[in-house]
Amino acid sequence: MAAIDDQLKTVLTRVTQAREDALQPAPQTRLVAVSKGHNAGAVLPCLQAGHRLFGENRVQEAGAKWPALRDTYPDIELHLIGPLQSNKLREAMDLFEVIETLDREKLALAIAKTGEGERGRLRACFIQVNTGEEDQKAGILPHEADDFIRWCRDDLALPVSGLMCIPPAGDNPAPHFTLLRDMAARHALPNLSMGMSGDFEIAIRFGATHVRVGTAIFGERG
Ligand SMILES: *Cc1c(COP(=O)(O)O)cnc(C)c1O
Repeated sequence: MAAIDDQLKTVLTRVTQAREDALQPAPQTRLVAVSKGHNAGAVLPCLQAGHRLFGENRVQEAGAKWPALRDTYPDIELHLIGPLQSNKLREAMDLFEVIETLDREKLALAIAKTGEGERGRLRACFIQVNTGEEDQKAGILPHEADDFIRWCRDDLALPVSGLMCIPPAGDNPAPHFTLLRDMAARHALPNLSMGMSGDFEIAIRFGATHVRVGTAIFGERG
């Protein structure tokens, strides 16, 4: 396996190429480097290469890894891409600029209950949509999503700026990306987080503004 900074460069080049090949790419596509399961030593080459946007799926792991790195690199932007328990919300808001996994009423209410000045670093939420309607997967079901998006934005005044999905493994991801893109367009939501190591180029074709890539940068997780 090549060095991590080389892999990062390769993925960034593939993102650029996919955007050039796409008929209607988003105005920009940002790479969320997913560092879950990898330690600070693996992240450092990315930071030294100038990359600042990262994703983690667990609050506790992020809390152990990132505060020290932020001392050196204060302009890091961290996205939570895994399920969030309401009792970890306070901690999450102190760690993450973006929660991409707003996936249920209880969590929306918990965020709404914190005042705007008490949200730590948090400045945006993406709503996770369970486009494959999988029992084991988090996210709002597609037929409930329009109402949920409206409720979060209009009634709770949450800073919702996008949608996120994880298509079922083995499915053709294209219909899932289409569903998410059309839903975001209906609500004029600017951000679309979709695409991982195996399918980020396809996601870019369907308008991804954020692709979440772990393995292709950092290698297999231990
Ligand atoms: C782990 C993870 C990724 C990255 O997956 P890779 O296949 O390693 O690129 C992306 N999104 C979510 C939600 C994840 O949990």
